[in-house]
Amino acid sequence: MRSLAISALLTATYASNIHDVCTPSYVQQHLPAPDFYQGLTIDTSTVTANPVINVTVVDNDFYPDAVFDYCNVSFTYSHNGVNDEVALTYWLPTPTDFQNRFLATGGGGYAINSGNQSLPGGIIYGAVGGLTDAGFGAAQSNTVTQWLSSNGTLHWHNIYMFGYQGIREMSELGKEFTKSFFNLTQSNTTLYSYYQGCSEGGREGWSQVQRYADAYDGAIVGAPAFRWSFQQTQLLYPDVVEQTMGYYPSPCELQAIVNQTIISCDPLDGKVDGVVARTDLCYIQFNISAIQGQPYYCPATPASPLSPAIPAQQGNVTQEAIAVAKKILEGLHDDQGRRVYFAPTPSAQFTEAQTGWNATSNQWGLSVLSLGGVFVEVEIDLLNGSNIPNLNGVTYDTLKDWIYEGMQRFQGVLETTWPDITPYKQAGGKVLMFHGESDWGIPTASSVRYWESVRQIMNPGMSYNDSAAAQNEFFRLFLVPGATHCASNPAEPNGPFPQTNLAVMIDWVEHGILPETLNGTIRQGPSKGQNQQICAWPLRPVWSGNTSNPECLYDQQSVDYWNYDLNAFNVPIY
Ligand code: CA
Repeated sequence: MRSLAISALLTATYASNIHDVCTPSYVQQHLPAPDFYQGLTIDTSTVTANPVINVTVVDNDFYPDAVFDYCNVSFTYSHNGVNDEVALTYWLPTPTDFQNRFLATGGGGYAINSGNQSLPGGIIYGAVGGLTDAGFGAAQSNTVTQWLSSNGTLHWHNIYMFGYQGIREMSELGKEFTKSFFNLTQSNTTLYSYYQGCSEGGREGWSQVQRYADAYDGAIVGAPAFRWSFQQTQLLYPDVVEQTMGYYPSPCELQAIVNQTIISCDPLDGKVDGVVARTDLCYIQFNISAIQGQPYYCPATPASPLSPAIPAQQGNVTQEAIAVAKKILEGLHDDQGRRVYFAPTPSAQFTEAQTGWNATSNQWGLSVLSLGGVFVEVEIDLLNGSNIPNLNGVTYDTLKDWIYEGMQRFQGVLETTWPDITPYKQAGGKVLMFHGESDWGIPTASSVRYWESVRQIMNPGMSYNDSAAAQNEFFRLFLVPGATHCASNPAEPNGPFPQTNLAVMIDWVEHGILPETLNGTIRQGPSKGQNQQICAWPLRPVWSGNTSNPECLYDQQSVDYWNYDLNAFNVPIY
């Protein structure tokens, strides 16, 4: 009896020591079996495993501050019949900190992963965190450089790996590896699986939920870069507006318009806090022509390796600048006036409209946003470059044509708006989607559109209220007051940001606690650290006193504002 107790004690001690399990040989013995995933072969000789002790993370928008230990594991696999090498990275909690959870993570822009930025978000909740390079190796942070085999030829294997295949394989191998590493095979077998990502990482999350019923128990998706061809092309719309209208406002003049819009629209939500929580009311009630004539001033900046010296910007907001801003805020329409895409919200920064200083002509001029330009250069024109050389001859109709061509070309791999997620719902899966209401890069209405498309497709014949309630049981959307693109917003520092999303999702999945509102944390300014709840769509925030939390109310005018008729297209746009 005594020896048995000692034996059990020794076993427990053994299992709790990260140094004993965080070794290449232990990992090699616990990799997924060779026949676990069809079509790929793990190269066991590539395994690395290193304990990392006493890591501190602070001031991240996506998880609270923490100190932790972890085991850093990597290995590669290849696709049978394809000469490739895909590198996986998993951060594993110590055996005592492990809480039967796995977290898959994604990237941003054209990056397939977020480096070391996302994985702590899993570790601190006792989850194994995973990321993949999807086979892009040195190009993993800018995969588009590998999307063509040569000019004129798309490298479809790479595009599929970026589109959804890489995340799927990392997730499935990661779940299996986690079960084996922590011996979840005999008893205590439950493994909860999660996804967390924003922007391109948000699109990657949807790429899984739309395809695989068993993808995750809970997916946290921020401001997804889905409706791919629309999203990439619309980044060029403000540039085309400036070119078409023949006026190139200085960054300082644009900033004056944004700053004054925020000041003017702040009170419309009922609370004067520097946050425009109701951009819908801002668009409907505030005429930005009122900003015309306002003075602006920005000091000169010296030359840097990336920029010429820029003189002081000073003047009064012109009628032309107001006209450009108004056109941008109307959103892209074709040359016949039919709507092509959603508009950015007033209060969002005019980042895409930024002009460039021409030191030769001494004036501000067109500066084509490369994130949009590279889509046209590589994915439409099939040229191995980093941006479209110019916008000569480009009209609003040209933008529509690029969208149409891209939509057809990439429908099955990148568009990522498949609206029927019934299998995922029936498997018990949950989705928490959020989107900053002052997002400069991806129109906030893009997420509303998809939520409404799923609601309509999955609940035919039901009333709006009944179908919205049915959807909110498993898929909730939160528009985040004041937040910019996947980040808290220095221009509206008192707005909340949902920093504890994984904790909220864990409560929902593992304890059945529905997030009626989403937990938000003020991340900047004098109120930093304070809590503020965020309303679930279709309810909208209203303050009637100086309370921290808003009331969340239904407002038909608001719902109507957020729903667009994209009548430039005859096919459904989900
Ligand atoms: Ca406000």
